[in-house]
Amino acid sequence: MSGKFATANQPLSGKVAVVTGASSGIGRSIAIHLSNAGAKVCIAARNVGKLEELKSEIEKNNGTAAFFQCDVTVREQVMQLIFFAEKNLGPVDIMVNNAGVMMYSKMSNVMMDDWDKTIDVNCKGVTNGIGAVIPGMIKRKRGHIVNTSSDAGLQGFPGLAVYSGTKFFVEGVSQALRHEMVEHGIKVTCIQPGDVKTNILSHTTDLEAQKQYDGSSKCKILDPDDIGRAVAYVVSQPDHVSINQLLIEPKEAPI
Ligand code: NDP
Repeated sequence: MSGKFATANQPLSGKVAVVTGASSGIGRSIAIHLSNAGAKVCIAARNVGKLEELKSEIEKNNGTAAFFQCDVTVREQVMQLIFFAEKNLGPVDIMVNNAGVMMYSKMSNVMMDDWDKTIDVNCKGVTNGIGAVIPGMIKRKRGHIVNTSSDAGLQGFPGLAVYSGTKFFVEGVSQALRHEMVEHGIKVTCIQPGDVKTNILSHTTDLEAQKQYDGSSKCKILDPDDIGRAVAYVVSQPDHVSINQLLIEPKEAPI
């Protein structure tokens, strides 16, 4: 505990949050918003240079941050991430399983390496994160697990079949977990963004699929800030209130 008391401006004072996929886009913004709300944040991803930059930015703004290089597909590294966070910042109150990849891919083009990678990061990354924090949260009888799902976790999108499948997985795991965690006092939330302006499309190799199905240039899509702000709201609710899912979409592009 930092010894700080929570205030209206800093409702997360004294809390420790871990954010995966914090080197870029949505995760980066979540980390900044949680820090601005008073949390000490442990930021994780593979790109150490970007994590260092973010740590400095948070500290310049009087926040507290630590970073840890971690591939979320490797279970031991995720376990080490939580060990590191608890040793350096304290017991983890908020775990944001945000790391993810999205590659446009037509099933008929059979790009199975892309499918494997998507499943590994988006599914195993989330279960590794849950497995790493849950014993400690159960012991402390408190905690909040926030999983970055997608509107594609509610509806299958053409060109994103495997991606949609991974986000349906995240939704299913989260829903069942939420029920199991009631007796332990732990909250589970799925954040479900529509298109957000990040680097996520840069990994797509099936350009035919992207050209045919990516409609993100047709309207004003979301900024990472829109999601960071929403996550800070979700984890700042009174203890008896649980925002279980939050669908956030560009105004012009509802599902
Ligand atoms: P970015 O590509 O900007 O960021 C992805 C983040 O995930 C990076 O920090 C990257 O870090 C990290 N990451 C990827 N693979 C791994 C890995 N194996 N191990 C650890 N970290 C990894 O994308 P977004 O910010 O847009 O995406 C974040 C989340 O939001 C994802 O779960 C995505 O599915 C979801 N989402 C995104 C939407 C969008 O339109 N952008 C819409 C709906 C949901 P590094 O490469 O340094 O490891």
